[in-house]
Amino acid sequence: MAKKKRKWKKKPLFFFFGILLFLLLLWVLLGVYLSNHPSQEAQLKKLGYSKEERDIFQEKLSEKDIETILEMDYQKNLIHILEEKNFEEKYFTYYLKFLDLYPTAPVEDVVFLVNHGKDELPYTPDIHTILTHPEFQEELLDRYLTYYQKYETEGNLTIQAVNEGLDEEDILLDDVVQLFLGQEYTILKNMDRYKNYYATHKDLAIKEIITRVNSNLDKTFYEDITPTDLSKENLIIVNKYYYLKKDYEPENLVAISSTYGTGYIKKEVLEAFKEMYNDAVKVGLYPYIQSPYRSYSRQSTLYNNYVSRDGKTLADTYSARPGYSEHQTGLAMDLGTKQNHSISAFENSKEFTWVKENAYKYGFILRYPKGKEYITGYMYEPWHYRYVGKDVAKYIHDHNITFEEYYAYFVK
Ligand SMILES: [Zn+2]
Repeated sequence: MAKKKRKWKKKPLFFFFGILLFLLLLWVLLGVYLSNHPSQEAQLKKLGYSKEERDIFQEKLSEKDIETILEMDYQKNLIHILEEKNFEEKYFTYYLKFLDLYPTAPVEDVVFLVNHGKDELPYTPDIHTILTHPEFQEELLDRYLTYYQKYETEGNLTIQAVNEGLDEEDILLDDVVQLFLGQEYTILKNMDRYKNYYATHKDLAIKEIITRVNSNLDKTFYEDITPTDLSKENLIIVNKYYYLKKDYEPENLVAISSTYGTGYIKKEVLEAFKEMYNDAVKVGLYPYIQSPYRSYSRQSTLYNNYVSRDGKTLADTYSARPGYSEHQTGLAMDLGTKQNHSISAFENSKEFTWVKENAYKYGFILRYPKGKEYITGYMYEPWHYRYVGKDVAKYIHDHNITFEEYYAYFVK
């Protein structure tokens, strides 16, 4: 019994040490296991990421993303990427790839480019300039990058070129092009022509070159010709570059009653003239329409007579070749006065002074002004007025330009 009792007394001690040993073994095994399989948290810590940084990783990234980070050295940029407001977890590996190629790229560029699917292009400081330019427009991103890759223009110039639409016309922004940008009547499609004209006319003001090229003066009268665009209606242009076909006859021609003049003209032009006439009469003046619509064959007869009298060169300064006369449009008229029908006397009449000042209010312009002969191709014709409608007439009057310039910039 005593023996039995002693044996029983020794048992708990055995038990106790047994369990202790077991726990110790378990603890050692766990330690061994953990040292071979440390948690992501522990591994991040080991790489040098602070508690705060590790929390950001846990919050914004998947385990798979973190696995990727664990294969890399400590990178401060990673945290900055996660803190970017447009960060998207699904692109995380693309950000990493980009940073790997361009470790010094600012993270806002990295996130922006990757989010826009532009992570394939070679990143340069110029691209940074483009993305951070105050005039950068996000919707033009593709165009900036395309232009930049094509012409390798510096970042600021790339922004300027695309914002001005040069990319759409395939124009390289160089020093000469720069001169023509931002000018009042610059037409981008004409850029090559400006450049060519500039090369041979460096003494001219840029503004003057624009005027000349827009008016086609870099081309030859009666040689570089096009049939005029009839769809422009009241704004049809007819000059030494644009012609009307032989059989063209305007619609709505009406006979002019003897109160207002003689011949035929388009109905709405006559209406506009009547309005002007009625106001002129109130101040005791009586303009009178002479020689409005002229057919192709009538013009042909006139021109040929002038040629046989004065020779072709001289005749061309005052008379249009058939098909090239504005009178064939039915929109033009020569003016005399009721007292003196002669158009060559018109300039010295009170009617002229009044009409010159007021015609635009009724939709008419002095078509061949003094000082603009080289643009219009005609000598000064104080008697020749052309109907273009009130708005256009006012613009041309206020800006002191020719119909040629107006047409190039606003109509064509
Ligand atoms: Zn005329």
